[in-house]
Amino acid sequence: MVADRPPCIGVLALQGGFAAHARMLEGLGAAVREVRVPADLQGLDGLVLPGGESTTMTLGIAREGLAEPLRELAAAGTPVLGTCAGLIMLDREHLGIMDTRAERNAFGRQVRSFEADLELPGISEPPAPPMRAVFIRAPWIAEHGADVEVLAAVDGHPVAARQGNAVVVSFHPELSGDDRLHRMLLELVAARDGA
Ligand code: GLN
Repeated sequence: MVADRPPCIGVLALQGGFAAHARMLEGLGAAVREVRVPADLQGLDGLVLPGGESTTMTLGIAREGLAEPLRELAAAGTPVLGTCAGLIMLDREHLGIMDTRAERNAFGRQVRSFEADLELPGISEPPAPPMRAVFIRAPWIAEHGADVEVLAAVDGHPVAARQGNAVVVSFHPELSGDDRLHRMLLELVAARDGA
């Protein structure tokens, strides 16, 4: 990114809740590009992997040959935000971008959807209000390596984490009208640009 143009943020748009992320990022002044094929990753300053259905998303990524280019983008230090199914896609058993293992639908059949107030360090900790987090058949992080910093947990299970330039949450920040995580992504992009 250069100072005289807005950051260009890609949103993986094979399936799932990409449109609400795009609206939120555009509301913050970013230029948004929907990502469907490897060429769409060219020149991106940041990337969002949205919620949706991780099996369908995995098949789409394989079909379009996106796995390796996505890994390269992340390995180059590009800030990445993964939400819900996006958290699953970044784990060891999928793209392998984070040293995590996600447990799908971890909150179980009886609690398919719920909301909780979360305090995320530097994002929604006092004196700022907590983040209202919407969980929809959400995963949690069942295992993670030492390089992964857990940012928030529900019932002792990590639901938000960071490893270097990758941040994941198992809820849907794009649905709550709270744009602080998207702001954080843009701040990571700006900090990298200024480095
Ligand atoms: N349960 C979904 C999956 O395992 C993820 C849910 C979501 O993204 N809201 O793919």
